[in-house]
Amino acid sequence: MNYNMAKLRSVKCQWCSEQIDRNTEPFEHESKGYYHKTCHSEMKADRANREDLMSFISSLLGPQANLAFVAKQIKQFTSKYKMTHSGIKGTLVYLSDIKKRKLNPRMGIALVPYEYQNARKYFEGLSEVRANMIPYEKPETRVVYIERKQSRYKERNVKDLEAMFEEEFNSDN
Ligand SMILES: [Zn+2]
Repeated sequence: MNYNMAKLRSVKCQWCSEQIDRNTEPFEHESKGYYHKTCHSEMKADRANREDLMSFISSLLGPQANLAFVAKQIKQFTSKYKMTHSGIKGTLVYLSDIKKRKLNPRMGIALVPYEYQNARKYFEGLSEVRANMIPYEKPETRVVYIERKQSRYKERNVKDLEAMFEEEFNSDN
């Protein structure tokens, strides 16, 4: 071992919270701190999906929407209820386009947890008959996750709209 070479101290990954050995592991650095290279890709895909969802909700609720409140709701639904961004978006499409519900801007997306499963069933039914009227331009941006024990993505509940989107996605390949 060459002791003349400065050894970089390990730092905490801002995405998975595990340590990064900067001497041996590929990493990225940005204003918020350090990331494993794969975690950085996950973070960026997640951020893009969240921004897409936020702009969709903003157009849905109109100028009276409290987007700071909506952002909190999204965070709660994804972390506590294990919903996905595409699942939330699908539920909102279901509510507004299919059920013709007028959403109260002051309530944000509070109806989503109550209709999430109904929306899932609805879209599953659609995909069974291979209707091509599913109101999505593209499936959620996906990245392949490297196995890492405590990654929060390990806990991700896939029993929701995501399964359908994957099917859509795969059928395009
Ligand atoms: Zn990481």
